[in-house]
Amino acid sequence: MKDFQLLTTRELSAALQYLASGSKVKLLAGGTDLLVDLAQKSHRLAGIDYLLDISQIKELKLIRVRDNRLEIGSLVTHTDLSENPLTRRYFPMLVQAARVIGSTQIRNRGTVGGNINHASPAADLLPPLLALRSEVELTAQGGSRVLPLSQFVTGPYQTCLRPDELLTTLRLPLPSPDYYGSFQRIGRRKAVTIARLSLALVVRVTNGLFQDSRLVPGSATPYPQPLARVEAALNNQAVAMLDLEEMGRLAGEEMVALSGERWSTPYKKPALASLVKKALLAIMEEVAADGKG
Ligand SMILES: Cc1cc2nc3c(=O)[nH]c(=O)nc-3n(C[C@H](O)[C@H](O)[C@H](O)COP(=O)(O)OP(=O)(O)OC[C@H]3O[C@@H](n4cnc5c(N)ncnc54)[C@H](O)[C@@H]3O)c2cc1C
Repeated sequence: MKDFQLLTTRELSAALQYLASGSKVKLLAGGTDLLVDLAQKSHRLAGIDYLLDISQIKELKLIRVRDNRLEIGSLVTHTDLSENPLTRRYFPMLVQAARVIGSTQIRNRGTVGGNINHASPAADLLPPLLALRSEVELTAQGGSRVLPLSQFVTGPYQTCLRPDELLTTLRLPLPSPDYYGSFQRIGRRKAVTIARLSLALVVRVTNGLFQDSRLVPGSATPYPQPLARVEAALNNQAVAMLDLEEMGRLAGEEMVALSGERWSTPYKKPALASLVKKALLAIMEEVAADGKG
């Protein structure tokens, strides 16, 4: 790896100017993924001219509601995300996911934007953010574009971010009261662990039927993506009559169809089935408690 220079700025406009310069610039937010890449001389840092520290840009640390959406700045840390009253009110599933990331130190430094852009198959925020149909705002000097997160992450450790762009904001449509969600996760130890398997489930319940189901496992497929066949199987099923075993079995099968048979399949297939059943059961109990089942 060749030498590079470290740059820092407090201004978004200056950061965008550096990115537009034509030099190879790598962004540094909390550094919890990047510094590991640096220490390991990762190919992801090959040929960079500058490391640009954006961690002091205040305008990217905001969480606010605008136009019926929750907007989360890319530099919001996992700690800020999980402690924010708006996130807690509208997206408890996201709070749950942010709370289990790494350790206190990692959560204090690691950011939402870093988690998304690193695009690890085990990134804890990706399954809930995908299930919640989030959009990303990508900004360059010439302007911004907005994409569904599902189109932004294109593969393991891959996104369609252009070299002159920075992820500025994440937008989540506020859910109506008929939406329910559950986040489940299995890790190796209680602290500082990357998820072995996780699952985000979001459904709407209308007249006692599941609708608009979104089921996204983490660490199960090459990169977090919805299990479309299970989602289709869930839609229009009566909440009170659901065959949990069948849904778990379908999820395991779809995971294998997407990732192929691997050394971990004998463990992950039943484990994912179990997470799907737990998530569905949690939602079914909540629906029953609301008298909507
Ligand atoms: C010990 C340890 C435990 C961990 N445990 C977990 C865990 O349990 N769950 C989990 O999901 N992750 C875990 N991680 C990974 C990491 O902490 C998270 O992914 C974190 O959110 C990364 O954010 P960051 O701000 O540190 O990113 P950085 O390391 O600063 O950046 C990561 C990547 O994103 C790019 N980037 C950052 N911000 C932007 C932006 N605004 N626009 C465009 N590109 C950007 C960078 O250029 C880089 O490529 C762990 C890491 C460690 C070291």
